[in-house]
Amino acid sequence: PDTDAGAILAGTARRYPDNIALRDGEFTLTYTELRDSALRVAQGLRELGVQQGDAVALCQPNSAWFTVTYYATLLAGAAVAPINPTLPPAVVRDQLDEVGAVAVIAHPLTAPLVQAADAPSVRFVVAVPETAAAPAPETTADGFVPLADLLAAEPVEGPAVSPDAVAHLSFTGGTTGRSKAVRVLHRNLVANTCQMSALRTGSVPAVDTEGGVFLDAVPGAVTRFMSAPGTGCALSVAPLFHAMGLISQNITVITGGTAVMMGRFDPAAYLNLVEKHSVTQISGSPAFFHLLLATPGAADRDMSHVRSVTSGAAPIDTTTLAALKGIFPNATVVEAYGLTEATMGLTSGLFDESDPVPVGSVGVPIFDTEVELRDPVDPDTSVPPGEVGELWARGPQIAAGYLGHPDLTAAQFRDGWLLTGDLAQFDENGNIFIVGRAKDMLIYKGYNVYPGQLEELLAKHPLVAQASVIGVPAGDTGEIPVAYVVLTGGAVPDEQTATALMDHVAERVAPYQKIREVHFVDAMPTSAAGKILKTELRRMHQSIDA
Ligand code: ATP
Repeated sequence: PDTDAGAILAGTARRYPDNIALRDGEFTLTYTELRDSALRVAQGLRELGVQQGDAVALCQPNSAWFTVTYYATLLAGAAVAPINPTLPPAVVRDQLDEVGAVAVIAHPLTAPLVQAADAPSVRFVVAVPETAAAPAPETTADGFVPLADLLAAEPVEGPAVSPDAVAHLSFTGGTTGRSKAVRVLHRNLVANTCQMSALRTGSVPAVDTEGGVFLDAVPGAVTRFMSAPGTGCALSVAPLFHAMGLISQNITVITGGTAVMMGRFDPAAYLNLVEKHSVTQISGSPAFFHLLLATPGAADRDMSHVRSVTSGAAPIDTTTLAALKGIFPNATVVEAYGLTEATMGLTSGLFDESDPVPVGSVGVPIFDTEVELRDPVDPDTSVPPGEVGELWARGPQIAAGYLGHPDLTAAQFRDGWLLTGDLAQFDENGNIFIVGRAKDMLIYKGYNVYPGQLEELLAKHPLVAQASVIGVPAGDTGEIPVAYVVLTGGAVPDEQTATALMDHVAERVAPYQKIREVHFVDAMPTSAAGKILKTELRRMHQSIDA
């Protein structure tokens, strides 16, 4: 639908006014209350001088107030710039500068960071209450504006927001280098929210008489929640400053479900919440699922109500996916794939329980999305089935490029196509397998080696909890594959184990793919979005060599 993102909230508030939209501890907001609060805060922002097209940064942990201030910013026609609160002040300052943020909405925990960043463009900082249930303080330290002041404004609708206005200035994960701010338009956001909820056949997006978007479920078809609209309950610990968290939130809203919020992740508390609220839908990064699997007693809980479990944001091995099925016996456990440049989602494995996608595949393109494999070096050549190529994608969710980087935009966004930078393979049924990032591929004696395939093999070894493979320069031969491994409890990190792991892989690959070194680590270096940082592993390796 040709509309702004506020129509998602408006549509659901009319359709499911009394459904609980947000649950944060004992605090709840119905859809009527969420929209009312968001309209008030939007008006409050306007009264403080925020204009359409301005950037407002959100630097907060996940909480009900994140969601309220997120929709408020969108309703005010300003662009949401989500800032990762785990970054150092100098990087936060750069990011606030880069988007020209006029205001920041912070939390007592992130206020010192925002203060230390001291970005010159920022005219005021709003502080949300420490916990959702606690009343907002009358005044906050250091001249911050309490959220209560904005909530006191009238809940009036502001001027219409164009579908072509920028909704998010979302920084990429920074997994491969410096983060870039992606310009996600309102139309991209609405499209991807509908696509990820409707998947292929679950529902069709429609517009109600007052311009609100809603999903018209197709009877009997599979929806994202694997349950009827208005009945789902999601618990996503994906950070709301990252595309996965933000779009998951929008998906919950458009389907009229409840989002259970969790600020600081704690596996046991998480499982308690899933049980207590009969959560139906779970999503997260592989790092999160690894923590969950390592939680004592996880498999003894009653998780029968969980209908879908989606892993995304980074590669996950099939051994871990199978173990998840042990905890969530009634759930369809799948992967979804996407990137910030595509608003969030491009493919999903969540389509048809009777015809599941093969384990290890990220599924097929979601509704209204085209994908192609092209030769990474010669993009005019398509890649034949079965071979590895760079994944190109086209659809209404492809964002409008990078803020302030015209050259980079021209290189990655071509004629409506997004060059994802990921290498993939299709099987004969069109299921997509992500092989890895093009940047992570290594060349040994002229042969291409894909670390993802080696990681998958390592993960199948009973002593391996997690594995990551990097390429290390080795003179004239090119790069050799080197593995970093987290062992399962009780395994001994010695020469013998290293040899056993190398042999295990060597028996299953061509000689040029053999792993040449194994290093043991207690934990993988991961980003706040839950991705293994190969840049960090390469740095660690350099310091071993030095
Ligand atoms: P940067 O571009 O700054 O290096 P980033 O690529 O991590 O950071 P994101 O947009 O957060 O930025 O991540 C998108 C990338 O995550 C994809 O390009 C892909 O490499 C990886 N990814 C996402 N989902 C999956 C998945 N299901 N399987 C494998 N990889 C995935």
